[in-house]
Amino acid sequence: MKNISRRNFIFYITALLSSALPCNAFALLKGKNYEISGPDDIRGKVFKGDAPEKPWKWAHEGYFYKKLEGGKVVCGICPNRCTLSSGDRSVCRSRVNINGILYSLTYGNPCALNVDPIEKKPLFHFKPRSKAFSLATTGCNFRCLNCQNWEISQVKPTEVRHHELFPPGVIKAAIQSGSKSIAYTYSEPTTFFEYMIDTSRLAKENGLYNLWISNGYINKKPLLEFCKVLDGANVNLKSFSDAIYRKLNGGRLQPVLNTFKTLHEQKIHFEITNLVVPGYTDDPDIVKKMCVWILKNLGPDHPLHFLRFFPRYKLDRLPPTPVSTLTRFRELAMQTGIRYVYLGNVPGHEGNNTFCHNCKNLLIERQGYYIPTYNLIGNQCKFCKTVIPGVWQK
Ligand code: SF4
Repeated sequence: MKNISRRNFIFYITALLSSALPCNAFALLKGKNYEISGPDDIRGKVFKGDAPEKPWKWAHEGYFYKKLEGGKVVCGICPNRCTLSSGDRSVCRSRVNINGILYSLTYGNPCALNVDPIEKKPLFHFKPRSKAFSLATTGCNFRCLNCQNWEISQVKPTEVRHHELFPPGVIKAAIQSGSKSIAYTYSEPTTFFEYMIDTSRLAKENGLYNLWISNGYINKKPLLEFCKVLDGANVNLKSFSDAIYRKLNGGRLQPVLNTFKTLHEQKIHFEITNLVVPGYTDDPDIVKKMCVWILKNLGPDHPLHFLRFFPRYKLDRLPPTPVSTLTRFRELAMQTGIRYVYLGNVPGHEGNNTFCHNCKNLLIERQGYYIPTYNLIGNQCKFCKTVIPGVWQK
């Protein structure tokens, strides 16, 4: 039998129980008003005096930072704007001030490398059936209670196994694997900005696409620079409530909304993910507000994915999201006017498939990451010739 980690084993068993047994223990919790406890703001803090004495092999000077008086530096990559005295480590754990210079410690030092189906990102309107060479280093600027990848996002670079792979090596490996794109993913790629953008520039020169799978918590200047080489993104809109952002993620809502507007203005293809966490992000009024904001500011064409929550990390006692809630949110979003609304982590649901927004015919059928039915010709619906938003196979 294939080796399976304890974490994955728990995930599969939980998924199995919750979908196979409608009257199981989880069902008892349905309709309950979940008690949300814990602090109102879980924003991360700078780790004082935690930097290594010297830069190491995978250290690279930061691209967006300012030197301040007294040897301090302030990082300009994300809205946390960490101010670091010499010897301090950043909120995202992967950036440090050594003798008045800000270094990223994860340049060419990924801890996760995989070749994934692009549908896994999820990206449903970008080169379907293609492979994405996916990489991550350690580090995140958030502290999500429900983090799926906390073993790599909430640790320092020295606390996990890693590989050495500088940008030219990434390009070579991506091409050898038959991937069409490189996805910066799993942890928070914004925190390894220098590695990501250098690799992206090289990827463009070699005919590969760049995909950013992110929480969208980035400042405008670095984002605009990145947009010059970015082809597609999936940005997680964790909630449409700033209070929930503080309590569940340790972030703020407005900078993420700004990111969506910038990507839209820059004409980058992006899709939006919203994880529906019982008791935190399952308020229909807030979901409705989110859909109205998307429609008004970004238009009807950016695909929206509602994802089913499963108990994870610090929220391991919450039940999975009821499928009925997700179905209701999908209908609500489509009634608001968003054209392509999907459900994730709900196998067999029609929300896995793409239907033409004009004639309503089935365009793409998905069974997990497998696509048995494909009814687009170029970028058009095969039936009514409507142009479908996205980046499609030629
Ligand atoms: S990228 Fe990291 S170091 Fe820079 S501001 Fe954000 S959390 Fe701080």
